[in-house]
Amino acid sequence: MKIGTIASHSALNIMAGAKAEGIETILVSTPDRVEFYDSYGLGSSIIEVSSWDEVLDLQLEDTIWIPHGSFVAYIGAERIINSDLRMYGNRQLLKWEEDRELKMKLLSESGLKIPREFQSVEEIDSPVMVKTYGAAGGEGYFIAKNKQEVLQKAPSDKKFSIQEYVVGTKVFVTYFNSYAMNRLEVFGADIRYETDADANLRFDDTPSFVVVGNLPLVLRESILLKYYELGKKFVNGFKSLAGQNIPGSFCIETIIDKNLNIIAFEFSGRIVAGTNVWIPSSPYSYLQFNEPMWMGRRIARELKQLEEMGRLEESLL
Ligand code: AMP
Ligand code: AMP
Repeated sequence: MKIGTIASHSALNIMAGAKAEGIETILVSTPDRVEFYDSYGLGSSIIEVSSWDEVLDLQLEDTIWIPHGSFVAYIGAERIINSDLRMYGNRQLLKWEEDRELKMKLLSESGLKIPREFQSVEEIDSPVMVKTYGAAGGEGYFIAKNKQEVLQKAPSDKKFSIQEYVVGTKVFVTYFNSYAMNRLEVFGADIRYETDADANLRFDDTPSFVVVGNLPLVLRESILLKYYELGKKFVNGFKSLAGQNIPGSFCIETIIDKNLNIIAFEFSGRIVAGTNVWIPSSPYSYLQFNEPMWMGRRIARELKQLEEMGRLEESLL
């Protein structure tokens, strides 16, 4: 067995994790990135491609691919779902993540609180966040104080959804759903740092929400417990809605308001880059394993155990 991914997002995290578990690695890279990844000792793992799509044609039967944010952004959920790549996790979930309506349906039917959605401009009675369809990484979003401002700012040629603007602290919690150990693990939390929203909102009328990086966050333990419950609800929710499991890593993206309500506005059905802040260990994964355990390593450990148990295929959905 080898572990493979493409060279961006959380590739260093994933590659280092596989190596720590004694598993061979494949890193698919465009030529401009080879020198950088080589500087982390990954030279011999690299397969150079001239465009990312070529990953779909690589005939590497013994490789298990780990999809991450850039993998999905560069290749597209649909093509990943239709490909023959052996991939860890549930790739159907990538489709639920990409489609705004399916996404909110899964969150709310799992029993999570979500921001109120306004079906028409007329209904708006609070500050809102307007999200154009197809916008990625917060580009093409805007916030508005009221109905009038939405009418002024909304593009006439694009479909958009209107959500209540939730005031509070952004909290992104990553989980690991282990088949081998038969348990859900709360892996760690982070705050996604976005430009310009996190920098100079006071001066900027249309802040952008483009991700720049992530900051580590350790939660109040009583709140952590609530997130454990939310994670279980999410896994069970997907089981009832889609009849399928979620093996491995996923993330629930929330805002906690001043009354400590947890409002979920997004999820990722795969490893998130926020786990990069927890190399070599998150406090929680350290407590669970008594040794350094970052997400890339957690994935590799699970795959190794499942292979030994002869249960690998169950988690390649
Ligand atoms: P990149 O390869 O860095 O250009 O990123 C490709 C996609 O992955 C973009 O849609 C990014 O928004 C997303 N992405 C990359 N890094 C992060 C991050 N740290 N947090 C959330 N999303 C990210
Ligand atoms: P998303 O593309 O849904 O991940 O949203 C991008 C960013 O917009 C998030 O990281 C938050 O900072 C912000 N955001 C999204 N939805 C809301 C909301 N309903 N209220 C306040 N901020 C939001």
